Amino acid sequence: MGLSESFFYTKLAQDGAARAGIYHTPHGDIPTPIFAPVGTQATVKAVTPAQLQELGASLILSNTYHLYLRPGADLVEEMGGLHEFMQWPGPILTDSGGFQVFSLSAIRKIDADGATFKSHIDGSMHRLTPEKSIDIQQKLGSDIIMAFDECAPPNDRAYNEQALERTTAWAQRCLDAKTRPDQALFGIVQGGVFPDLRTQSALWIAAQPFDGSAIGGLSVGESKEEMHSMLDIVLPLLPENKPRYLMGVGSPEDLVNAISRGVDIFDCVLPTRLARHQSAMTLTGRVNMLNAKHAHDPHPIDETCACYACLHFSRAYIRHLISAREMLASTLISIHNLFTLLRLVQLSREAILENRFSSFAQDFLSRYNYPIK
Ligand SMILES: [Zn+2]
Repeated sequence: MGLSESFFYTKLAQDGAARAGIYHTPHGDIPTPIFAPVGTQATVKAVTPAQLQELGASLILSNTYHLYLRPGADLVEEMGGLHEFMQWPGPILTDSGGFQVFSLSAIRKIDADGATFKSHIDGSMHRLTPEKSIDIQQKLGSDIIMAFDECAPPNDRAYNEQALERTTAWAQRCLDAKTRPDQALFGIVQGGVFPDLRTQSALWIAAQPFDGSAIGGLSVGESKEEMHSMLDIVLPLLPENKPRYLMGVGSPEDLVNAISRGVDIFDCVLPTRLARHQSAMTLTGRVNMLNAKHAHDPHPIDETCACYACLHFSRAYIRHLISAREMLASTLISIHNLFTLLRLVQLSREAILENRFSSFAQDFLSRYNYPIK
């Protein structure tokens, strides 16, 4: 099936390689660059859809692997599809399930046709193929669906050669399997940290009738330098008139570095995962909210932030909630962290529109305190 007519990307400005635009979808416009909060189990952990809307989220991501195993794609379809089921009215992106099969399943067997794996929930055996992944994503009814791919360890040359061969064949099968015109299908560039494999993959994906281009297999263990050099190779080869999505990347410095190279869409569990570990994200670095120095602090998490948590609550109160193991601690820090990343992409977008992104990025990166590993 060819390009979906109900989806299109409008570029509003370009500053260097950085782009500001709008991705139009049947469930609403997505201003780009954009960060998508992750709702693994059809819920962004500890945050309601109303709160997501209030903090300015426009696109959210959900995981095919998890929803396929529980509650099952048929049940979601029976309940009216993912938007109705989880009560999120805006655009939704689902991944293909491939990444989780390769990262979560203890027992798996990959062959030319697909992957057989053991459920991490109850040990039952399952099989995913390109056709099955598209079928599940069509039942879920998300707006943006992803091609089924194999994400190999980034530095293993032989593995990446084989995985890329499969990923390419599977991407073609996904294009053939898709039947719903109200969904956009994105192809995924793989190839580890190898310039020739990345080039080959990007050229092939760019030549196919995908609605958008994704870059997978980065931020999975390679160095920052390797990630940047792969982005430098891949992005200039991707179509100008389609959105570019860097999968699973969500630290503030990675966002700015990738936006400067021409990425439009990001997703990551980092803001909500850090929130459940008492770590607040700010535009200058992370803050451990359980630290004793916050015990008597009447100030908000971030005095420059206008999120609900920062407008209303003190560091002392949030630290108390964490100490008392109250659920509201996770909710407030999640709201703040998501707002911070949405604010960062919004500030980047304004800088691109005003043709001052490179000074914005330099200024941001020079002030950002990198977390200690
Ligand atoms: Zn805040």
